[in-house]
Formats: sequence, C-alpha cells, structure tokens
Amino acid sequence: MKPSKNIVAFIIALIIVLAVTACTPQTAEEHPQSPEQNQPAPAELDEELQNEEAKVEQVDLKGIKANENGQIMILMYHGIGDKEAEWMRTAENFRKDLEVLYNKGYRLISLKDYIENNIKVEAGYTPFVLTFDDGAQNNFNIIEENGERKIDPGCAVGIIEEFKKEHPDFGSGGSFFVYYPIPFRQKELIKEKYEFLAANGYDIGNHSYNHDNLGKLSIEGIQETLAKNVKSTQEYLPGYDVYALALPNGIGPKGDSYKYAAQGEHDGVKYNHRAVLLVGSNPAPSPVSVKFDPIRLPRVRASEMKTDGVGLYDWLQHFEKKPEKRYISDGNPDTVAIPESEKENVDEIKLKGKELVIYK
Ligand SMILES: [Zn+2]
Repeated sequence: MKPSKNIVAFIIALIIVLAVTACTPQTAEEHPQSPEQNQPAPAELDEELQNEEAKVEQVDLKGIKANENGQIMILMYHGIGDKEAEWMRTAENFRKDLEVLYNKGYRLISLKDYIENNIKVEAGYTPFVLTFDDGAQNNFNIIEENGERKIDPGCAVGIIEEFKKEHPDFGSGGSFFVYYPIPFRQKELIKEKYEFLAANGYDIGNHSYNHDNLGKLSIEGIQETLAKNVKSTQEYLPGYDVYALALPNGIGPKGDSYKYAAQGEHDGVKYNHRAVLLVGSNPAPSPVSVKFDPIRLPRVRASEMKTDGVGLYDWLQHFEKKPEKRYISDGNPDTVAIPESEKENVDEIKLKGKELVIYK
C-alpha cells in the first residue's frame, strides 16, 4: 500500500509543479508583476484609497457618530399582563417600549447576532436585544377564534409580530428563556409554538429544567438541570441549538463551577451555551469591546417599577445625555467603525476578521 501511495503523491506533486511552471509565463504576460510583486502600484493604491474614502464619505461616520464599540441594551422582560408589577409589564406598556425604542433609533437584533458580532443595522441606528424569562403563557399564548387558532394579539409574540408588520424596518429577534415541564403553559401547543419561534427569528433559551438555583446545586446537579432543559427542548425541535442560558434569579454556579453554566454534560446530553445572561442592571459592551464577556452578559430591566434608577427609561435618558456611549452602526456589517477615542477599548481578536475603521 505504502509504495503506491508514494507514487500517487509523487505524480500529484509533479502535476502541480508542471501546472505552476506552465501557468507562470501566462500570468506574467497578463500581469507584468510576479505574484510577490503583485501589490497595487502607487497610482492604483491612491485610487483604492480614494474609493475607500468615497465609501466612507457615503456614510458620514463622524456625522452619524458611528461607534461600533458602544454599548448595547439586552432588555429583560418577564410577564406581559394586565397589571403592571415588578416582574410584569402590561401589554400597553410593552407596545409603548417598542414604539419609544423604534422612534429613538433602536433596531431589534437577535442575541446570536449580537454575540457573534454579526450586527446588520442601518447606518446611524442602534441595535438592541429582547429577552423574556420564565416562559409564562402571556409570553406566547394561542387562542381560538371562530374555530381557528391564532396568536393572542396581547401576548409578547403577538405584540412583536404586530409591531414588525407596522414597522418593516424594526428588525427581528427575541429570546425566550423557558423551563419545564410546560413552557408557555399550553402543553399540547408547545411544539407548534417552538416551530413558530424557530421559523420567525426568535430563540428558545435555557432557564434550567425547573427554575433551579444554580448557586445551591452541586456540579452534577447544575449539569443535570441544564442538560435536561436542552434535552426537553430538543424533544420538540430535534437538533435545536440551545446556545444561551439566562441564569434563574440571576444566580450562577459559585466560584470555579461557574464554567458549568456555559458547558457541561449529563446522561449523554451535552450543552454549549455561548451566551450566559445575568439579571440587571446595565447595558452590555459591544461584542468587540475589551469588556465583552459573553458568559457574563448584563441585562437592562425593562420595567418602570423598582428599577433603582437602572431601568430601560433610565438608560434611554442616559444615552440621550451621553450619545458617545451608545453603539451606533456604520451600516456595513463587514466593518467595525469607531471614533479614534475608542481605539484602546477594542479587542482586535474579537473583530473576527472584520475590518476596523477608525475615524477622527
Ligand atoms: Zn426566571
């Protein structure tokens, strides 16, 4: 076996050598420079620079105050109901939140696009993320009207869907962190709801199997409750990637066991959360920031009760006063545009191949 393999390898190598030799003169004819020298000539370079400048001029980075190292709000909701409470937003107020955000130039993206630095928002706009914990029925409720099933227009999904229809440039996204045994509390409709969510830009996230306190469980216990959640979700959606965990009550595993919030295995079921969300209380860093830590992501409480000055409306006001802190898109998903003052705050490794554009 071995000699014949060597012969094959020799023949392949010979073919490559011959092909390269054969091609070189042609290439040289078409392009007078050899590959090593195939850098643009100074004139071409100028032209390229001018083209770059023209592109940049198209979007006036300074004018729109582009800052893709600015902060992004991951909003935390729980219930959507009739009566405003600490962990409940009325349907009317939730609609108001979306309206206010939209009018102030915020656009909805998915949690995944945020953590993967895959932000596609028009130039001058600010991305934000929606999250809902606990999977209450009012997050996603299906009702029957004239013998037909439809999404309750007063539940979270119903409100978001309606808002997207009215504002096609609003974006899409929304993560529902559920626990078991009956997420969204309509047992016979779980699969139908999950399929709708997965097909419409939403995510189903982990919130442990039974809203367990991860700070009190053993390493074994932590892995059991998190893996059981993933297993249950995958029973409805085979192969579904549960990539995010919202810590129940914001409590994570203690000390060194914190890593089991992100990754672990139980009974042959593995989980791999690339995002772990805390409870409260401030906007999250840009995914290219030196401060970005995807397994410790802070969230903003989308409430107007007991927010201690760190709720959604407090932060909206804060960004109005300090617009330089806000993430503002350059409109180009392939570049990361920042003012020179942010240069030291960007972790180049997190650019993941995207071009860093620094403007003065
Ligand atoms: Zn919870």
